[in-house]
Amino acid sequence: MNYRHAFHAGSFADVIKHIVLARILTYLQDKPAAFRVIDTHAGAGLYDLDSDEARRGGEWLTGIARLLQARLSNESAALTKPYLDIVRAFNPKGELKIYPGSPLIARGLLRPQDRLVACELEPKARKALIDALRRDEQARVVDLDGWVALPAFVPPKERRGLVLIDPPFEAKDEFERLGEVFSAAFAKWPTGIYVIWYPAKNRRATDMLAQTVARLAAAAKPPGKCLRLEFSVAPQADSAALTSTGLLIVNPPYTLHGELKTILPELEIPLGQGGAARFRLEAPKP
Ligand code: SAM
Repeated sequence: MNYRHAFHAGSFADVIKHIVLARILTYLQDKPAAFRVIDTHAGAGLYDLDSDEARRGGEWLTGIARLLQARLSNESAALTKPYLDIVRAFNPKGELKIYPGSPLIARGLLRPQDRLVACELEPKARKALIDALRRDEQARVVDLDGWVALPAFVPPKERRGLVLIDPPFEAKDEFERLGEVFSAAFAKWPTGIYVIWYPAKNRRATDMLAQTVARLAAAAKPPGKCLRLEFSVAPQADSAALTSTGLLIVNPPYTLHGELKTILPELEIPLGQGGAARFRLEAPKP
């Protein structure tokens, strides 16, 4: 495993993913019933933006740093507030020094009755995450392969909640694996909310994944819904850094599509690199 999320922490792709994560958890908070977050590829939890990796990557400069400076409408400011409040809480002096990854953002949105379980295989990242969540009775970090753990972890006893599947896409077969593991988990828990991240580089692979996921969701009884979001900050050059990020959201809260239609157009200028960014938001065809 060579992947280190520290190079990408706070990038435009993290910003889009974490806005969606926070919107869904904010929705789940509306009802008092407990929910669980299962983060299959959790990362190190907290990222020092002064570290060598973060400096070399520098991706946070065109991601979270730009969002924090963007002038958003009142509506979008209110919708992104739960996410940005968590980022700000880790940077109490105002200067951006630390970026919280998905388990820390999820943790920030748990109520006392809610739980988080986070899988991380890479020992250093796992240790950092354990340290970040030390003595936290609501959050558990496990030394398990997220691909193997996910089907075993669902359905959670709360029968409400969200699964985040955010693999590093280092292996060639990661798209196929994603489809297979999602299929196994979804068969056991068709009413869960799933957020699947993918790099939007290879149109054929991403279309096939979206179709597989949408087909499985549509075949559930009652049929599940699926939303596909892609956000592109510049045209993709073959060997260059990723410029398009993708998310598939299965069983999204009914509010999410409208919220993203409000927020995403306002991110096109702040997150664009050498021009305005573009996004697509649609229900993929099964
Ligand atoms: N979800 C994190 C966030 O949004 O802040 C970023 C996670 S990063 C893209 C992927 C992480 O998965 C890396 O920290 C990597 O070490 C870990 N990883 C790779 N293969 C894994 C596996 N099979 N099971 C669990 N974790 C894995």
